[in-house]
Amino acid sequence: EEEKSLNFLEEIVENDLSAGKYQSIMTRFPPEPNGYLHIGHASSICLNFGLTQKFGGGTNLRFDDTNPVTEDTEYVESIKEDIKWLGFEWKHELYASDYFETLYEYAIKLINNGLAYVDDSTSEEIAQQKGTPTQPGHRNQYAGRPVEENLQLFADMRAGKYKDGEKVLRAKIDMESPNMLMRDPILYRIKHAHHHRTGDAWCIYPMYDFAHGQSDSIEHITHSICTMEFVPHREVYDWLIEKLAIFPSKQYEFARRNLSHTVTSKRKLLQLVNEKYVSGWDDPRMPTIAGYRRRGYTPESIRDFCDRIGVGKRDNMVDLGLLEFCAREHLNKIALRRMVVFDPVKVVITNYEKGSELLVAENNPEDTSTGNREISFSNELYIEREDFMENPPKKYFRLAPGQKVRLKHAYIIQCDEVVKDEAGAVMQLNCTYIPESKSGADTSGIHVKGTLHWVNAKDHIAIRINEYDRLFTVENPANEEGEFQSYINANSLTVLNGALAEPALKEALVSDRFQFLRKGYFVLDKESPKDLLVFNRTVTLKDSWAK
Ligand code: ATP
Ligand code: MG
Ligand code: MG
Repeated sequence: EEEKSLNFLEEIVENDLSAGKYQSIMTRFPPEPNGYLHIGHASSICLNFGLTQKFGGGTNLRFDDTNPVTEDTEYVESIKEDIKWLGFEWKHELYASDYFETLYEYAIKLINNGLAYVDDSTSEEIAQQKGTPTQPGHRNQYAGRPVEENLQLFADMRAGKYKDGEKVLRAKIDMESPNMLMRDPILYRIKHAHHHRTGDAWCIYPMYDFAHGQSDSIEHITHSICTMEFVPHREVYDWLIEKLAIFPSKQYEFARRNLSHTVTSKRKLLQLVNEKYVSGWDDPRMPTIAGYRRRGYTPESIRDFCDRIGVGKRDNMVDLGLLEFCAREHLNKIALRRMVVFDPVKVVITNYEKGSELLVAENNPEDTSTGNREISFSNELYIEREDFMENPPKKYFRLAPGQKVRLKHAYIIQCDEVVKDEAGAVMQLNCTYIPESKSGADTSGIHVKGTLHWVNAKDHIAIRINEYDRLFTVENPANEEGEFQSYINANSLTVLNGALAEPALKEALVSDRFQFLRKGYFVLDKESPKDLLVFNRTVTLKDSWAK
């Protein structure tokens, strides 16, 4: 393996460790449990867990659950499942809501030090007093409240004396700072809402800026990695840690990873679910980890993808083709090969008199440890309708009148006669086979260029196939005019009934990965009924869509 150069965050960690700044590092992945994880989160997971895999230390899973209204335990469970599936183990499972009492004490400390005050202004007044990036803001009469009064009012806020929005607690920093976030940011707001973990214990909730850095500090996170939009928050982050004199966690930012032809925002993904554009968060078309899992992606391929896109400082849009490439790379190595005819036309072998025989077929030429299977052959078979042409152009190597092809793992056949119905549609192809051409024991000396997949008409199962395409027709639906939903690809799912498969697929498990020869990579759908197996197409064999 060639040595990969370190990304800029790995360099920071390596320097901190070699300078003796830390004995070991701690990172965290801090999802808000308000939706399922998507491919952008996978980037952040691979980055945070990747750092401690490489340099030692640990990564916490911390649920950033300070917003009671949008959060739910269903999301907590899905997030845990997805991280485990991606192959990572967290050190501690933690919840920002577990720190509510500590955060409250921190707020009191700030008030006692004259660094926070209770403000009765409306949010409009606060926004207005804050000024603009080019004009300084100014403090109002509440900023001068004495410590005692602030302590009493803040206690009353907690005790539920006030309605939502009647008061807030603000840090007293600098109303003239060029950084708008430093202009006396709100630390606490009143919200009489039920929380998924703390129930009705609280009616005041800390704002992101007062929860995140303090949670990092409580957990002794050394490198707190977030996305670029938090750059202006770093000043607040550092100010609070300094004034509270607590463990000095440090924030570092990297650019969000966005994937083309989809949306990566939990809010928009929730809309797709609620408005029934998809069947749920784990619909195989969704860019969620759960969606990719159901679609047949492997954790290895997603980790490989995150690794290849790397980390940077500039926002970028990654082509969906790269994710598919990573899937093909891995699936090619592990997928069991099977033969499935999607659109069958019958082949009768007129000179085959053995009745039937068993042929040996390798399960995966890339991995001989997967062994062989037996497939039955008879005088009646199905091949793909598109693999026959009555009047073929030059260099057509599939089946045509008078032309020979090899049937995979079987024999060379020649088409002698085309049987049609009254309307002229091809009903059956009468062929002869060459007995000496058996795969693995071919003494016929005949060379053919085309090899076709097939199934035995007397021994097969019917399956259903879901063929998926991009969910959106444009590269960046969130950036287009109008609603992003109007760019949904109407043909993102094609259901194919009546595909015919070799019987080995009866034993398929959801954890198996398959390559249907010449068709693509497939996985058994997790909700597949027992009497009709449903397979999802993960990716085609080749990059097939025009950019
Ligand atoms: P969304 O906009 O989808 O709700 P979020 O950032 O609000 O995303 P969080 O649950 O707060 O979602 O995210 C957890 C972590 O994942 C954060 O550290 C966040 O920065 C990171 N993250 C989220 N989206 C991306 C992305 N597209 N690329 C890289 N990291 C991301
Ligand atoms: Mg967030
Ligand atoms: Mg969000």
